[in-house]
Amino acid sequence: MPRTKRKAPAASQAANDANGSAGPVSRADTVYRGIRRAIIEQALGPSTKLPEDLIGERFGVSRTVVRAALTRLAAEGLVELRLNKGATVARPSLEEAHDVFDIRRSLERLVVARLAGRLTPGGAARLDAHVAAEEKAKGKDGPESIRLAGEFHVLLAELTGNVILSRYVGELISRSSLILALYGRPHSSDCAVAEHREIIDALVRGDTAGVERLMDHHLDAVIGRALIAPAPDRDIRDILSAYAAE
Ligand SMILES: [Zn+2]
Repeated sequence: MPRTKRKAPAASQAANDANGSAGPVSRADTVYRGIRRAIIEQALGPSTKLPEDLIGERFGVSRTVVRAALTRLAAEGLVELRLNKGATVARPSLEEAHDVFDIRRSLERLVVARLAGRLTPGGAARLDAHVAAEEKAKGKDGPESIRLAGEFHVLLAELTGNVILSRYVGELISRSSLILALYGRPHSSDCAVAEHREIIDALVRGDTAGVERLMDHHLDAVIGRALIAPAPDRDIRDILSAYAAE
């Protein structure tokens, strides 16, 4: 399970660097986090091969350590492991993509319902700071804005204090990034920053019904941008209808 406290990975990394004796568990964790981030930032696209030897070389670890990291990524649906064929970045089907967003919608509604009116000033400040960072990264089409958009949702789930909820939401957000890489429009970032601000405002007001509605609307927009709406526009009849009208 990934450490979900935002400061923890950097702190433990610093500790490892300081004593120069990172154990096999933390080395596998470093590989896990590195590959996971490359997938989430869409640097490693769906179906990309992940050869154990090359990854081991790059991270300076054994193949056993790499395998442990890949197994963990496979359990989270980001990597596919095939016997004798090695690992690849997963390629979720359209059906899986729909399933991921269905579950996201339910779980994230639960997240905001739990947070409405109960957000501490510290929690609200963290969300504000995060959205400010998103604003700064906006329009650069960069991997940073894709990652930050997802992390906003992970942060919301963390602030509920429910470890299981934040773990599941975190996994779904990672899968969503992969889905966007596969089915999204070029350069489509995951989320509209203005909508994130509206969600924070409604949480602070304690408007439970309002924030649930906002989150639903927000995720619908994400799904729309991900091109997995029920009627895909790839149907040849739809394409031809524009020409047939002439
Ligand atoms: Zn969002």
